[in-house]
Amino acid sequence: MNRKQRAKLIAARLRAYYRPIAVQRRDPVEELVLTILSQNTNDTNRDRAYASLMKRFGTLTAVMDATADEIATAIRIGGLHRQKGARIKHVLERIFSERGTLDISFLADVPLADALTWLLSFPGVGNKTAGIVLLFSFGKPYFPVDTHIKRVTRRLGLVSSTEDPHIRMNAILPKSAEFMIQLHLGLIRLGRDICHPRRPECAICPLADLCPTSCQQPDKRGQ
Ligand code: SF4
Repeated sequence: MNRKQRAKLIAARLRAYYRPIAVQRRDPVEELVLTILSQNTNDTNRDRAYASLMKRFGTLTAVMDATADEIATAIRIGGLHRQKGARIKHVLERIFSERGTLDISFLADVPLADALTWLLSFPGVGNKTAGIVLLFSFGKPYFPVDTHIKRVTRRLGLVSSTEDPHIRMNAILPKSAEFMIQLHLGLIRLGRDICHPRRPECAICPLADLCPTSCQQPDKRGQ
């Protein structure tokens, strides 16, 4: 079985195990700011930081007009607040200077490769952040790889240790946004719940028979 076939099988298995996961579609700029806030922290701290930001400023336009220090203070709870505060201000200011608005819905009509290039041109916006905006806000088929997905896909043998996970995963997955969304969410859940960075719980993993590094593989049992 090649990697494309294995990826489809893994996606089907995760979908059956977790059931389709409901997705909340957000405004693209809100998604972009939220994803910057999520860098190097968990969803709870990201959401707290965003709530704190909105409580302090009310709108993203007001955030853009604040100083980087004021933004940093408002998002302190999310960690790396100075770096993220400066990034958020720069991103919002540049969008406004280029578009005359913070509305980036024009990306819906831009080809995927061009939309990705535009988002990646912002300092602090990498493939994961850009991919989350494209996939979740616009339904464009680009697969974002976070730290859990990077670890789990390597263990599953979908991506080798020398390959770029974004390039590899986007090369082997079907170009379907719904397929990518469910696989993205399923792999993150598996990474959080079962395939931990240390001591993965292979004995209860729904992918154990598909995983070359599983401790449940016949030649590894008893080790
Ligand atoms: S079998 Fe083990 S290493 Fe493989 S994906 Fe499952 S938990 Fe991770």
